[in-house]
Amino acid sequence: MVITRSLQRAQAQNPESKSFKNEWNVLQLIHANRNISRIELSKQTCLSAASITAIVQNLIDRGLVVESGHNSSALGRKPVSLSLRDDVGFLVGVDLGSFHTRVVVTNIRGALVYKQESETGMQDGRDLVLSRTMKKIHKAIDDSGTPKNALKGIGIGHSGVIDVSKGLVLSFPRPGQMTEWKNVPLRDLLEREFGVPCLLEDSVRAIATAEKHFGLGAGLSDFIYVDVGMGIGAAIFLDGKLYRGPGGSAGEFGHMTVDEHGPLCCCGNYGCLEILASCGAIIQSVRSAIEKGVDSKVRELAQGDLNRISIEMIGKAALQNDSLSFRVLHEAVSHIAVALADVVNLLNPHVLIFGGALFRSAPELFLEPLKRTIKQRALEKSANEVQLKISTLGSEAGALGAGRLISEIVVERLYRIAT
Ligand SMILES: [Zn+2]
Repeated sequence: MVITRSLQRAQAQNPESKSFKNEWNVLQLIHANRNISRIELSKQTCLSAASITAIVQNLIDRGLVVESGHNSSALGRKPVSLSLRDDVGFLVGVDLGSFHTRVVVTNIRGALVYKQESETGMQDGRDLVLSRTMKKIHKAIDDSGTPKNALKGIGIGHSGVIDVSKGLVLSFPRPGQMTEWKNVPLRDLLEREFGVPCLLEDSVRAIATAEKHFGLGAGLSDFIYVDVGMGIGAAIFLDGKLYRGPGGSAGEFGHMTVDEHGPLCCCGNYGCLEILASCGAIIQSVRSAIEKGVDSKVRELAQGDLNRISIEMIGKAALQNDSLSFRVLHEAVSHIAVALADVVNLLNPHVLIFGGALFRSAPELFLEPLKRTIKQRALEKSANEVQLKISTLGSEAGALGAGRLISEIVVERLYRIAT
């Protein structure tokens, strides 16, 4: 019996039908793998070449997919590659960081069309931060020339403790921010303001998502991303998927205890990694040493104003052999590596990717000490198997990742509307 295209389409409309599931699976693969070919789709889905041809044609007819060129091939004719159609919609990604807010606009495939960066001004209080964030998103939509009806979703990363399913910032364990950011319904606030689907995610997981799709994690199904900025966090990818844990808070690497008699962390524990090795801790150590009279190039870089000291200045000074900066960075990296050796023993990851302001400040300083300490402290087999890499993504990675996360919801909506 010849199955006509209209019959296939009717079958595909039933979400329980096999053809709906096959078609949705193919669309997700096209979204997840840029420039995938029909041959590769057939391999990954175990569907016949004829079935893939029919499904892809349906998706093209419905305006969701386009033929985007030719894949490279060593022999013979190059297979045609497939992608989501760029103009099916645009997305906004936001990284609401402790110090900086980054907003990007991307097409549905994650290609950057606009970006902006500004100070968050957390010290001005939650309400002002929220109203400024809304204004920044409106500005990004206007300045990027995105027509109102082309905006399909907004993803936002926040460095607090997040309940993704409820879209809540549960808390923000930073000095002075704990009470203001308790149970803030950030996702719903955005949906009310912009009238499109929104998603709230932990900022480190948003950055790791960018790493998975646009960075060194592309093509890897298992890796751990470690981020060191004003906080410290990690995101774990297992079998190609972000592992959140049953309660949704997996990856709180910064609150591992590395010195049980160490200083009090804002989470209430003593001697957490974050209180000893985050950029905030590093800046504080350098500042207090300079205040006590230790000579350092950082004083000159900060033009004498010790409140202006940044991690970038400390990284720059360390690269110019400033001994105070070098020593403080080395101590921080040593704490990070000690905690990572436990992670390596526990999870046996094959790739660790490092990102965040610390690693951007002086990437060439960190890989060797990290490798050395992990080799000294982790079990030989796991230590030998793990590869360490420094991210090459820029500071907009968190916003890009937040945009990529909402794209998964948006693509599903567009598919359901089109069927
Ligand atoms: Zn802590």
